[in-house]
Amino acid sequence: MKNLIAISAPSGTGKSTLCEEIRIKKPEIKFSISCTTRPRRDYEIDGINYYFLTDVEFMEKVKNNELLEYEEVHGYYYGTLSNTLNNAISSKELMLFDVDVNGAMSIKKKYPNNTLTVFILPPSIEDLKVRLINRGTDSQEVINKRLERTNKEMKFKDKFDTFMINDNLSSAVEKLNKIIINLKQGVEYGS
Ligand code: ADP
Ligand code: 5GP
Repeated sequence: MKNLIAISAPSGTGKSTLCEEIRIKKPEIKFSISCTTRPRRDYEIDGINYYFLTDVEFMEKVKNNELLEYEEVHGYYYGTLSNTLNNAISSKELMLFDVDVNGAMSIKKKYPNNTLTVFILPPSIEDLKVRLINRGTDSQEVINKRLERTNKEMKFKDKFDTFMINDNLSSAVEKLNKIIINLKQGVEYGS
């Protein structure tokens, strides 16, 4: 049975919100906590949402081969701890990874038989802009940077095993929940 779910979406789609909802609904599912050099948002907790590191601390982890993959996204570093992934593989426990498109491809490449990749789409680019603005965490400059990356990320959609649209939040939570239930039941998506 596949037990790694790598989820990607253009910034602002609602991926973190969806993962948070799943976290509440299914507390038995583990979440990979990534390392990042991005500044912490007010509502984020170090060690729960991310491990917030300085550039020096992050590079130390890279040097020590502690990260299975890492990427520079919107000007900051983000990476998945090898230990987290290895523990999920050995325990066979279900684990969600909130990663960018390259991160999802890296996890799939490393563990093709264990990984399901899921791409989440916003209803439209206009909705995406509104969500980024309403989130209220980023300056217009940062929002533009995030939107600029959207085209590149959208091109990866067909490389994912499956995709879903985050339109209405509660129905999107149900869609993601269904994907997880199907996975547990051994339903195969894509390759
Ligand atoms: P991401 O992690 O993909 O960058 P977030 O989860 O931070 O995105 O969501 C971006 C903003 O959109 C947040 O303010 C969140 O409350 C809002 N949001 C998430 N899902 C929906 C939805 N289905 N409909 C409307 N707003 C949403
Ligand atoms: P945010 O700053 O909005 O939390 O995240 C920005 C982007 O970085 C998102 O696409 C998110 O999925 C991605 N990201 C978060 N953690 C990781 C990680 O460990 N590896 C990779 N490759 N991307 C990550």
